[in-house]
Amino acid sequence: MLTVEEALAKILEAVAPLDTETVPLLEAQGQVLAEDIVSTVNVPPLDNSAMDGYAVRYEDTLGASGLSPRILEVIDTVMAGAVSGKTVTPGTAVRIMTGAPVPAGADAVVPFEDTDEMQRADKGTPAARVGILQPAKAGDNVRRAGESVARGETVLRAGTTIRPSEIGVLASAGRAEVTVVRRPVVAVLSTGDELVELGQPLPEGKIYDSNLYGIASLVQRTGCFASVLGIARDNEQSIVEKLEQARDADLLITTGGVSMGDYDMVKDILDRDGEMVFWKVRVKPGKPLAFGKIKGRDGRSIPHLGLPGNAVSCMVSFELFVRPALLKMMGKTNVAKPTVDAVLEDNVKNNAGRRVYDRAVITRRNGTYYARLTGPQGSGILTSMALANGLVLIPEEKLTMSKGETVKALMLDWNESFNL
Ligand code: AMP
Ligand code: MG
Repeated sequence: MLTVEEALAKILEAVAPLDTETVPLLEAQGQVLAEDIVSTVNVPPLDNSAMDGYAVRYEDTLGASGLSPRILEVIDTVMAGAVSGKTVTPGTAVRIMTGAPVPAGADAVVPFEDTDEMQRADKGTPAARVGILQPAKAGDNVRRAGESVARGETVLRAGTTIRPSEIGVLASAGRAEVTVVRRPVVAVLSTGDELVELGQPLPEGKIYDSNLYGIASLVQRTGCFASVLGIARDNEQSIVEKLEQARDADLLITTGGVSMGDYDMVKDILDRDGEMVFWKVRVKPGKPLAFGKIKGRDGRSIPHLGLPGNAVSCMVSFELFVRPALLKMMGKTNVAKPTVDAVLEDNVKNNAGRRVYDRAVITRRNGTYYARLTGPQGSGILTSMALANGLVLIPEEKLTMSKGETVKALMLDWNESFNL
């Protein structure tokens, strides 16, 4: 049996980052930049005011106080987006709004709060004179041209994952489009005679196809396109027909049909028509795992992961083996889920002799992470996944672990409610 690490290494070895595409900025979130971004503009373009106030020569404010204001002549008002044609000379000031360029001659901005602006009866309207109540220093409340981004500067490097803050940086550099690694199209196929599509009545002995939905949504959450192929029945014709629809995908995921049962035909057909290896991975849940390639259109070769049919095994296998592969195809280099050390709040057993990933609720209290199991851990009990935000890792060689011992917990979700 392979270890989790050995199986993952073989899968990662067989996939590579996809080609690139140029997309509108707002579509690029979660994708990896495929070009260095050099700014063609200064951000901000000119020295500008960080406050609503008065642009002054700081020397004119020295010694100012509430009892002894420095009175300056107001020669202009300038709003964000406009440029004042006036020059601030000794004894004068320009009323200025946040973001407006600082006029020539001025070297500081005194905010309204430090002037008599608010005390005046006609406050809010420009007056001919202003009283400065506080001395300013050179550069006060002035944002320098290019302080955020200088023209010619490389602001983002190829390989960076685009988050909202990168989108903002790209927008401020004027980029409407960016070149990024393409998102994988992932074909998702369920197999089984017992499966019923949602929206249909459920005859005796049948079950709804949950894997298709669970896996397709994991694909989407990873930032890929799910091409949902539906259900293949446990016969050659049905499977071959469905696989035909996967020929344009970048990766194929099937669920079910890889264990050793009589009707587990996926492995036989793929073994015959493609390049396919079946592994037993030393992990619970998720021991049976198939990995190979099917022939795509135009001679392409499409990686295929055959996940176990049990609903929990299938989702856990996705997290362990498929997600890292998809992230690599998306051009990412860090493909691991975040992990924390957590104190067990339950006793756990490992009678499988394999690496166990139990579903758990991870919480943080007084700076320490704790892990509580979500109840029955059967590999078909999908609600155990729905209740969990993490998986605790019980090592292969440990037969039991006790309450109070520290385990590694792989975080499935890391959201706001977690940091309670
Ligand atoms: P298999 O690997 O095909 O032998 O399936 C193992 C178990 O997982 C069986 O109990 C199946 O009924 C169940 N199973 C397989 N595919 C799905 C699916 N798409 N949705 C829900 N359960 C499934
Ligand atoms: Mg089956």
